Amino acid sequence: MVTPEIQQRVVQLRQQLHKANYAYYVLDKPIMEDSIYDQLYRELQDIESQHPSLIIPDSPTQRVGDKPASQFISVPHNIPLYSLENAFNLDELKKWQERWKRHYTVSNDEKIDYVCELKIDGSALALTYENGLLTRGVTRGDGKTGEDITQNVRTIRSIPLKFPLDNPPIIVEIRGEAFLPLDEFDRLNLERKKAEESLFANPRNAAAGTLRQLDPKVVSKRRLQFFAYTLHLPQNNPLNSQWESLEWLKNQGFFVNPHRQLCPSLKAVADYFRHWETARHDLPYMTDGVVVKLNSYRLQEQLGFTQKFPRWAIALKYPAEEAPTRVKEIIVNVGRTGAVTPMAIMEPVHLGGTIVQRATLHNRDRLAELDIRVGDTVIIRKAGEIIPEVLRVLPELRPPNSEPYEMPSHCPECDSVLVRPMGEAVTRCVNSSCPAILRGSLVHWASRDALDIRGLGEKIVILLVNNGLVKSIADLYYLTPENLMVLDRMGQKSADNLITAIANSKQQPWSRVLYGLGIRYVGSVTAKLLTDNFPTVEQLSQASIASLASVYGVGEEIAQSVFDWFKITENITLVQRLEDAGLQLKTLSSPVEEKPSTSKQFLGKTFVITGTLPTLKRSEAKALIEKSGGKVTGSVSGKTDYLLVGEEAGSKLEKAQSLGVKLLSEQELLNLIESND
Ligand code: NAD
Repeated sequence: MVTPEIQQRVVQLRQQLHKANYAYYVLDKPIMEDSIYDQLYRELQDIESQHPSLIIPDSPTQRVGDKPASQFISVPHNIPLYSLENAFNLDELKKWQERWKRHYTVSNDEKIDYVCELKIDGSALALTYENGLLTRGVTRGDGKTGEDITQNVRTIRSIPLKFPLDNPPIIVEIRGEAFLPLDEFDRLNLERKKAEESLFANPRNAAAGTLRQLDPKVVSKRRLQFFAYTLHLPQNNPLNSQWESLEWLKNQGFFVNPHRQLCPSLKAVADYFRHWETARHDLPYMTDGVVVKLNSYRLQEQLGFTQKFPRWAIALKYPAEEAPTRVKEIIVNVGRTGAVTPMAIMEPVHLGGTIVQRATLHNRDRLAELDIRVGDTVIIRKAGEIIPEVLRVLPELRPPNSEPYEMPSHCPECDSVLVRPMGEAVTRCVNSSCPAILRGSLVHWASRDALDIRGLGEKIVILLVNNGLVKSIADLYYLTPENLMVLDRMGQKSADNLITAIANSKQQPWSRVLYGLGIRYVGSVTAKLLTDNFPTVEQLSQASIASLASVYGVGEEIAQSVFDWFKITENITLVQRLEDAGLQLKTLSSPVEEKPSTSKQFLGKTFVITGTLPTLKRSEAKALIEKSGGKVTGSVSGKTDYLLVGEEAGSKLEKAQSLGVKLLSEQELLNLIESND
């Protein structure tokens, strides 16, 4: 059933896409990233295919390109220029194969091969050669008509003006992509900046804008290039496949992309796609995907075209780092310091190879700046590498009657009044017994750089707190295996292991205990500085602000924070109970030498992390690796030595396997660090 909401959404999407098309095709000044356009387009397409009654002839999904408004003469294409269907992952590629096979029965002994070409991000051109001479160059336009820009096309040095053949075919139609190499794009924008002219958004727009310059001399100065990829010869020619056509073009002096590949299977296509996902960043021009074409012309002819696309080709696009999605809910998350962070819970969306459904909204100020509301379409981006953030809201796609979001005045966990200290952007819960703060504090206490309690990760902490077994960090040291066995999925062995790990943590040095207490601004380095200067907790708790601040590397802010912490009665009780439990709250006279932290195995090695690790946060795993001399990067490539794999690993796992990268579980990583030699 078509609900009013769906109808409303379709209208909004069409308006937004029409606007984007105009800006992109006519003005050469896009108002959104291609990946965002593609996903909004896909959403409209999905709604229309579920509700065909909504399709109208001028929906953006029913058109190819847009009619350019310019002073060039519009001419009909000799052969229409179709668009390409998009696939955004390998599953969609597989579905494409299933679809075209429905239109064609493949016999058992028939060999099907695919031509893979890089999808160059430029502007399509149709060239006509008559008796071996270039007579016409036309832009793609709306696919049926384009602009005659022959004068400009003649200035592109990689387009031959004449075939070298003695007996050239009477008429030849060639398609390809005109593009600006990246260095030329940079040079051009630099020049425009100096001249205080508006900059081109990307090489594609720069190429399209250049082709439509009225003065061919200007075009000639910008070094456009051209890769040829489609050939139409008169009937009865000897060529049987796309691959042969590319060879033919090359022999006539056209520039054909050297990275093309003939693939005997979809698996080989997938390998090609994965290889270029990283390798493309080293190319001197922009590519946004791979074009996969069935090689055989006989097959292509049988499959034919839909209204918009050839059935025998598809553009397989690389995952976007930014994506649109819709906000389902806005919540606030309370961290271990009591900091309250608003978060958007969104419809799941693919982003840079993983599925994302939460994004941080940082703080109250950012919320107000975004004016984000439930139901809004937002653009999200991976900030750094891990936590996605909301980049902007698309107000045109906002549902009617949406309400501005108000930050809660009370903590969602303990209901105490939230405060925003003067001069700070962060809102805080200041109730020290708030369960959210307790959970965060316990996770921090058990973390690798603090008390390093293996097996005490976030999931167990939630269970311990929810079951009322732990109300303070010190309670950990009074737990028994029997207490733990009431927890979900906790057997005798795991309970014993956890109790042993907790007991072992009593041997950790005073500096780690201090770091584990989670005093604001006291990181592991500061904790070491403080404990070197104040060897017992008594000395530290009684130190004046001035003496704390006199420690080299400890500033006023830290000194004040430590001083204040020891003035709170609950904190003194905690320290007392920890001491009673046997934790090290002073530096031993002959301190246990800490092991050197750099491991031979890790020195100079590159790691990538994927999925959710059983106990470590990604940031913790990263810190551990770096401390041991390794390096952590965001994407898998030929240079990756290890992939650290957690649950629900994404496409990085597939890629690492295909490249033969060594896989490590969290436990294996920890063992390697442990066996540090
Ligand atoms: P497309 O760019 O996704 O794919 C078709 C085009 O690929 C061809 O016309 C050709 O120019 C090019 N191509 C490059 N290498 C090729 C090769 N080896 N073989 C065949 N073709 C090759 O589709 P489109 O219809 O040209 O344009 C639609 C796309 O334009 C959208 O998917 C979107 O990414 C972008 N767009 C963006 C906005 C925006 O606001 N940012 C607006 C409209 C369109």
